[in-house]
Amino acid sequence: MLFGLFQKRPTLPPIYLHNTATGRKEEFKSLQSGVVTMYSCGPTVYDHIHIGNLRAYLLPDLLTRLFLHYGFKVNSTVNLTDFGHLTDDADAGEDKMMKGMRREGYEITLENMLAFPVPYIESFKSDNLDFGNLPPSQYARASDYIAEQIKLIETLEQKGYTYRISDGVYFEVSKFPAYGVLGNIDLEKIRAGARVETNPEKHHPADFALWKNGDLGWDSRWGKGFPGWHIECAAMAFATLGKQIDVHTGGEDLMYTHHNGEIAQAECATGKKYVGYWMHNAFVTMNDQKVAKSAGNGFRLQHLSDQGFAPADYRFWLLQSHYRTTANFTWEALEGARAGLLRLRRMVYEELSEVVPGKIDQKYQERVLRAVADDLDTPTAIATLFELAKDQKITPANKLATIQFVDSLLALGLGKGAAEGRAELGVVEVLPTELVKLLQDREVARQTRDFVRADEIRDEITARGYLIEDGSDGAKLRRK
Ligand code: AMP
Ligand code: ZN
Repeated sequence: MLFGLFQKRPTLPPIYLHNTATGRKEEFKSLQSGVVTMYSCGPTVYDHIHIGNLRAYLLPDLLTRLFLHYGFKVNSTVNLTDFGHLTDDADAGEDKMMKGMRREGYEITLENMLAFPVPYIESFKSDNLDFGNLPPSQYARASDYIAEQIKLIETLEQKGYTYRISDGVYFEVSKFPAYGVLGNIDLEKIRAGARVETNPEKHHPADFALWKNGDLGWDSRWGKGFPGWHIECAAMAFATLGKQIDVHTGGEDLMYTHHNGEIAQAECATGKKYVGYWMHNAFVTMNDQKVAKSAGNGFRLQHLSDQGFAPADYRFWLLQSHYRTTANFTWEALEGARAGLLRLRRMVYEELSEVVPGKIDQKYQERVLRAVADDLDTPTAIATLFELAKDQKITPANKLATIQFVDSLLALGLGKGAAEGRAELGVVEVLPTELVKLLQDREVARQTRDFVRADEIRDEITARGYLIEDGSDGAKLRRK
């Protein structure tokens, strides 16, 4: 395939990403040539993840696919919070892990706290895979990085950014004048509006725990206890990716407290800018309420599959909204997404199943790439995909190659082998003779207007595990 080597590679449009830190779309430039480092805040593993969480892992997946297409090596981390995340992000409320352990009748011990989340970690990883996300370079479990977290707290202590009170070590936000860049936090307003019950020993209500003392946890020079939630992410980003990283992602709720906390710790410890591009996804809601375990609407992929929806149907639905706009989930909308994706799957695995992929159509490639590189404009990419599917001017071979290219960026399950794609659609490759006979008998019954008999035959066919599709060129069977 020497010819392929000399084919002109279309020039790649620049990548623009919306940076929450500046409120603008900026052209992406990696810190290190040819490599992108990316950190994504992972789940607190006290329960299964829900369909809202999946949106937060779709974001780094789309970025990874785009960066890989541009020839970058991607080093990415998703962390697993397995201690110390309180139900209130501002160091108050119940510890989520302990809440989960109590729910399941575990005795609260450190050993149990390490064992209890294992099934949830596994189900998170497998939901991610089923959803079409590439695994990150590493999943980092917070309890595996205790020494790194302690060391980072010590560095901040030595540099004078911390103070001790009765329940632990705190970061003093007023020592970091740049505090609150994400979401434009005004420290004065926070002070003025602080609720009376916030920890009175804190110097400022926005000060946050670096170390919390308690009966459970690890030993340190500050006593037994846990590192705080924000120090976990900064320490693991440092340990797995380096002191400065290109992209950091998370749901929009994380930006105010958690990510501003991460910036403060990281930048005070190193004196360098921590993250090049902060990216935050908007929520998935239901009836305009955030999807959340506590709201009782925290559906999982498994719930969708119980209703007959594949993970790709949900992914396709999500991709029809831009990641920075709220996506309000309804079953009807999911139904619509499934129908749209089915049209594409039938085109690829039925109409084009005998076709050998040809060349990627450059015009469509450029349009899709331009959309995805424009701060992940997936709605435009999908509209373009439908336009391509309908375009009679593109040869079937080139159409297939181009759809497969789009799929490498969006992962909608359109790039599988023909046999797998056809089997999933229930395409019947060889119809058993008795079914051919039943189908013929039904046709005769219909033509002689014996509808009772025709219905009986339909029921028999259905009972054998087939669905009848009546079309302009006669009836076809599909496996259920
Ligand atoms: P958590 O386990 O609550 O820390 O959440 C893990 C990730 O999912 C974080 O990035 C959250 O911001 C994100 N997330 C949680 N709920 C939703 C939602 N309803 N829609 C989108 N992202 C969410
Ligand atoms: Zn985090």
